[in-house]
Parts: sequence; C-alpha cells; structure tokens
Amino acid sequence: MGIVRLITIALIIYLAITLYKRWAASQQKTAGTKKAGNTTMVRCEVCQLHVPENEALQYRGKYYCSQKHLEQDKN
Ligand SMILES: [Zn+2]
Repeated sequence: MGIVRLITIALIIYLAITLYKRWAASQQKTAGTKKAGNTTMVRCEVCQLHVPENEALQYRGKYYCSQKHLEQDKN
C-alpha cells in the first residue's frame, strides 16, 4: 500500500470524525433549546393567566403575570 493512499484514507477518516462531531454538537444544541422551552408554568393570582415561571413575578409565594397585577393583589 502506497503512503499517499494511506494518508488519503487517514484524511477521509479524520474528516468523517470531525463532521460527525460537529453534527453531534448541533444536535445537542437543539435538544438543549427544547429543554429550555419546557419550563414550568405558573398561574397569575389575579387573572389566572398561565405564564412561564422564569417570566412570572413572585411575591410572598404567589405568582403574577405583571407588576400591575402584583400591585393589585397587594392592596
Ligand atoms: Zn395577571
């Protein structure tokens, strides 16, 4: 087997591994985004609207969709 042929085969294997790793990384990124989108939903104490927990406002263990509703329930 010639050295050129050997290098060519090694190069093809190297490229295949590199491309596979890149593809696997992009697949993981997509899965991560999907996971992040699957957040816990909480209910606003005033209007009963469901909002993601990370976007909701929390006050004394209760959740609110907006600052307005938080203030409304406080009074
Ligand atoms: Zn509300």
